[in-house]
Amino acid sequence: MRMRLLSRVFIFSLLVLQFSRMPSPANVRVSIFNGYSVSALVISPDKGDFNVVADGRLLSRLEENDILYISRKGDLLFVSGVSGSPGEFEKVAVYSSVPGNSFSIRPVRPSMEKVSYHGHLELSISYERISIINEVDENLYLAGVVEAEAGTGARRMFYKAQSVICRTYLYGNLYRHAGEGFDLCDEVHCQVYHGRLTGNSGIAGAVEETGGLVMTGSEGELVNALFHANCGGETSGSGEVWLTARPYLRPVTDPWCRNRPGASWQVRIDREKWIAWLAGMGYQSAAKADFASRQTRREVYYRHGGFSIPYRKIRADWNFRSSFFDIEDPGGGRQLLIRGRGYGHGVGLCQEGAMEMAARGHNFMEILQFYYTGITIIDVEKLF
Ligand SMILES: [Zn+2]
Ligand SMILES: [Zn+2]
Repeated sequence: MRMRLLSRVFIFSLLVLQFSRMPSPANVRVSIFNGYSVSALVISPDKGDFNVVADGRLLSRLEENDILYISRKGDLLFVSGVSGSPGEFEKVAVYSSVPGNSFSIRPVRPSMEKVSYHGHLELSISYERISIINEVDENLYLAGVVEAEAGTGARRMFYKAQSVICRTYLYGNLYRHAGEGFDLCDEVHCQVYHGRLTGNSGIAGAVEETGGLVMTGSEGELVNALFHANCGGETSGSGEVWLTARPYLRPVTDPWCRNRPGASWQVRIDREKWIAWLAGMGYQSAAKADFASRQTRREVYYRHGGFSIPYRKIRADWNFRSSFFDIEDPGGGRQLLIRGRGYGHGVGLCQEGAMEMAARGHNFMEILQFYYTGITIIDVEKLF
């Protein structure tokens, strides 16, 4: 798949050299509504006309506001709602020759909100559901991902940093769904993608202005560009969170995110439940013990007596916003107070810190180099 994408990049680069300077048209194949078992849906063009091709033959032309209805019938797709008689097919493609054209999909079973996409569409039956693949221009895909992962209303320089992260992820994970007929899914498993941009936020420009740029580590490899909402003042090293330590994912003291919305949180938990949970973890603690603990810097383990347990495990089981927290024990009270910093796993780029850096005039390369130690930012074509 990487070869297919890259060969498109390469071929188009030749065309660009020959004819004009235009953004790369390399396409990405994304499985959309990937987490849902869709068995019926409607498709309608938002902008421009589309061709509907069923089992290799042109079935009809779909104009703005026309509606195509597709449902699963055993191993086939039942298609109706367009000129001509309804029919059953193995594969249905909906495509336009104009990249800026867009269409909406609204799943009917299960019933969901409609979502608008650029590019083409390929439908078939797979695992007893309708497989919906959106083949879309790389930059239009990345713009949708940046919006879904970072929201609207931030500065362009922040979006440039996020664009390089999402592009690095894209190229580093093109084989993630190899064998399933697409490159990436639209869920957290790969990168969240909800179709085309909804806000006028400068994201499309940020993606184009960083066109082709990705991050590599010391051995020239594409980095695992992890990010999170807020680190609480210090990022986590990857080795503390996962088994594999990456030299570019080192703990960084972050002065930028401390006054941002995700910087702090607190929650009270029931002392008896805490004691019961510790017992479940194999620690038979005294009921009157003092559970207080403090992380002035991020630590891996919560320790009590001779017992230790990863803060990450506590975070996961108690659904805390981060693993960077103190426990205050008023002594004899029925509750413990958890005072935490940050939001998310804490590894890699801190989005709220990066937004603050952008607001203070730092460019996207400075932002990325602050959070990812020792990385190089290069054009992806230089890798191959
Ligand atoms: Zn995935
Ligand atoms: Zn931070």
